[in-house]
Amino acid sequence: MKGMETRFETLIGFLGKFKDEETCRDFFEKLRFRNGAYCPHCGLMHVYRFKGGKRFRCAGCRQDFTIITGTVFGESKIPLRKWFIAIYLLTTNHKGISSVQLAKQVGVTQKTAWFMDHRIRKAMKQSNGQLSGIIEIDETYVGGKERNKHAALRTRGTQGRSVKTKTPVFGMLQRGGEMRAKVVNDVRMVTLEKYIVESVRIGSTLYSDELNSYDRIGKLFPHERIRHAQGEYVRGSVHSNGAESFWALFKRGYIGIYHFMSAKHLQRYVDEFAYRFNTNEREFQGVFGDLVHKVATTRGLPYKVLKA
Ligand SMILES: [Zn+2]
Repeated sequence: MKGMETRFETLIGFLGKFKDEETCRDFFEKLRFRNGAYCPHCGLMHVYRFKGGKRFRCAGCRQDFTIITGTVFGESKIPLRKWFIAIYLLTTNHKGISSVQLAKQVGVTQKTAWFMDHRIRKAMKQSNGQLSGIIEIDETYVGGKERNKHAALRTRGTQGRSVKTKTPVFGMLQRGGEMRAKVVNDVRMVTLEKYIVESVRIGSTLYSDELNSYDRIGKLFPHERIRHAQGEYVRGSVHSNGAESFWALFKRGYIGIYHFMSAKHLQRYVDEFAYRFNTNEREFQGVFGDLVHKVATTRGLPYKVLKA
């Protein structure tokens, strides 16, 4: 196992790389100012660095700032190294990490851990880019009682009912590509069709089960169905096993780690699981850098910088 200690994705390699606050600050500075340093107060790109390097002053508005001013890191007063470890934990634990556990492992209060968790999740928001190729479409139900729900929803003419205690989540998985999952109000035909049309490029092929909400989608996309009711789960390449494995992972996280997800925050949890699922094959150092940058800038960059 030689080399493990320097590998970024191992805990020991990670903590070795980010050994102190200064190292974290340097790493973050390279990400934040990758297009050049700018003033977080007015957006001007003419700034001076003080001797010692920790503080900057703007040549225009004359205000001082640090590398974390104007980011969620700066406002929170939580050391960068704790943020980095929290991001590491939330990214590498396949089923997620509860705020109770995060608080213990990072050494912050549970309230702080909860804040960090949700900030990181917000940065994990799914992209809006369109999927293409072969797309598995599938839906699942989160929360409430499992009993009879599946069979009831599979009865023709009753779709969209009995969703009183459970929240439906609709998913689209591009084979060899990304999973998109969205909390929806119902699984009626018009609702699901709207998301499919928004998210899938024309010319793509859809695979689904026999839910009758998909009865009309074949008019817009080539569409193959698996007949679960007749005991069919795979027909050649036609199946929705990829999407189902995502739901299985999500539910293991729900039951085993989070225990409960409020309807209000459910989409953020779905985003969190989709983020890990979609970046699983990518090299971890790149994933981590992207996420650190996103967490820090999610709360808004000065307008002038965005326009520049
Ligand atoms: Zn300024």
